[in-house]
Amino acid sequence: MASETSKQVVTRFAPSPTGFLHIGGARTALFNWLYARHHGGKALLRIEDTDRKRSTQEAIDKIIEGLDWLGLEFDEPPVFQSDRAERHAEVAKQLLEAGHAYKCFATPEELEAMRAEQRANKLPMRYDRRWRDRDESEAPEGAPCVIRLKVPTEGETIIDDEVQGKVTVENAEIDDYVLLRADGTPTYMLAVVVDDHDMGVTHIIRGDDHLNNAFRQLPIVRAMNEIEGGWPDPVYAHVPLIHGSDGAKLSKRHGAVGVEAYRDEEGVLPEALFNYLLRLGWGHGDREEITRGEAVELFDLDGVGKSASRFDIKKLQNLNGHYIREADDARLATLVASKLGQEENQQLLEDAMPVLKPRAKSVNELVEGAAFLFVQRPLEMTDKAAALLDGEARQRLGGLSARLAKENHWTIEALEATTKAYAEELELGLGKLAQPMRAALTGTTTSPGIFDVLVLLGKEESLARIDAQAAPSGSNELN
Ligand code: GLU
Repeated sequence: MASETSKQVVTRFAPSPTGFLHIGGARTALFNWLYARHHGGKALLRIEDTDRKRSTQEAIDKIIEGLDWLGLEFDEPPVFQSDRAERHAEVAKQLLEAGHAYKCFATPEELEAMRAEQRANKLPMRYDRRWRDRDESEAPEGAPCVIRLKVPTEGETIIDDEVQGKVTVENAEIDDYVLLRADGTPTYMLAVVVDDHDMGVTHIIRGDDHLNNAFRQLPIVRAMNEIEGGWPDPVYAHVPLIHGSDGAKLSKRHGAVGVEAYRDEEGVLPEALFNYLLRLGWGHGDREEITRGEAVELFDLDGVGKSASRFDIKKLQNLNGHYIREADDARLATLVASKLGQEENQQLLEDAMPVLKPRAKSVNELVEGAAFLFVQRPLEMTDKAAALLDGEARQRLGGLSARLAKENHWTIEALEATTKAYAEELELGLGKLAQPMRAALTGTTTSPGIFDVLVLLGKEESLARIDAQAAPSGSNELN
């Protein structure tokens, strides 16, 4: 058996399904995954699906889909917390039998009265341990009861958190909370501890909104260790939550909070979100661009900051632009083709990528940039484009069309030479020709380089688009 010191690192991500993978959850998953990979350990996934109403199959699938998309693969099939209720109850019974837990017969009305009194006297609202030292025989025959943990009342509990440092809580402040409800179902607090133990979790990395819970969970671990051994304290790392630009906890009012929204609505690539989430709360000097492989090599908990980080969409977009430029053209073409419903034009899109990529910060911008390839004649013109096509411009397009029609080599170089020669002939700057060309070819005033556009559209389509806007060559419309 492996000794305690050489124990393999086991981390877990334990989402409660809410309908989507929250960006904060994704970062927690990422940190757990990276920590396990960095230390050659295992990363596990546990679906905390005890809230049956919210934990629909669809909500669970959404989380798994988001994790897959980010490339966070786990080392074992997911554990479903709801499957394990019997095991949780078994541990509650062990704690009860060993005197680390007790039955509480307080009725809901009694507890309500207790709370009302605490409220009135401005006392901390917590269970007053009224059944801690009473005997079961004092309860009415067959009365329902819950099982509560007997938390030490003296001394203090210290957690040496890998991120927060040493945190101390007086034991008297921790209430004897419920482990098992009257109907025999386990509470969340019990389930988490039992599952973490049974899954062999060594490191609990999660949001710092769970720091308080750690002080309630650790007493179960320690009690079980006393009872049967083999329940070492886990290492805790409570990571500060992500905040919005205004410094408040990130929520829907700041914009999208689901991973899938970044993929679908913002057109973010998974490696960009991976990199961004990594940098959101963890740093290595001032490095911004860090690949997956480098992250596995560099990640450790000492790089996790103590203060909340702010979500900055601009930074994410800039990183996304970087990864778009790095990305394989065929892969981007596939993404764009599916968004445009142009799967049959994969090759054309792939050819267009080198000219679309440099100016795009998202897949959506690639989609917008590629749209001109597929518009049907007659092209719809934006107002700005229409304004460029005055009589003079149409005249010039007519002349240009006649020249381009004679072009046998439909290449950037040849098209550029011909167009320039014509501009010189008209004693005009190239722009005076290029702008109406762009309007005629794309219906807009922004596009990739005009000769790239001609090549991508091909001779026939280019001429047809130009001719549709041109005054017949040789017409005397101007003067
Ligand atoms: N299921 C909890 C949540 O989604 C996490 C529990 C834990 O990490 O211990 O917030």
